[in-house]
Amino acid sequence: MADLKLIQGDITQFSGDAIVNAANTGLVGGGGVDGAIHRAAGPELDIACRKLHGCPTGEAKVTPGFNLPAHIIIHTAGPIWRDGSFEEPKLLRNCYENSLKRAVENHCQTVAFPSISTGIYGYPLDKACEIAVSTIRHFEATLQVTMVAFDEGTYRAFEKVM
Ligand code: ADP
Repeated sequence: MADLKLIQGDITQFSGDAIVNAANTGLVGGGGVDGAIHRAAGPELDIACRKLHGCPTGEAKVTPGFNLPAHIIIHTAGPIWRDGSFEEPKLLRNCYENSLKRAVENHCQTVAFPSISTGIYGYPLDKACEIAVSTIRHFEATLQVTMVAFDEGTYRAFEKVM
């Protein structure tokens, strides 16, 4: 079982093995946490992302961390929330699960996640927290996972579920 802890902060400053990026299917730098990661990692990240030819929703792909303290970046494309009947819960679970798989494949021991899909993609925070926490806790691997909540509301929502 993966071990899970919660902090409030900026994921670009996480100095562990891997950080997860809430990217988009094109893997072209966007806003939110994706924009922050691209700015902090430097322009080489964009070049590396282009070579991956996108990432379907729920899947996860890896690049180096470039100028970040973290060694690698695991890019996953979260579902855009519509009304919950378009497989959003399953796709969000896939994001966490596939990101954790990439972490294990890349011999990571410490990995940080942002709250995938709950920003620009509009996934209801309480529902997303339940999925994030249960998926990480049930994942069979010896991993230290840190949820990095950027804002106070996200921190409180995760705290409640954890
Ligand atoms: P999505 O498009 O998947 O919804 P967003 O980047 O819009 O992704 O938002 C996902 C979460 O990441 C939100 O809770 C947002 O506040 C948070 N976030 C934004 N910048 C950072 C950062 N530097 N570190 C950690 N989380 C961040």
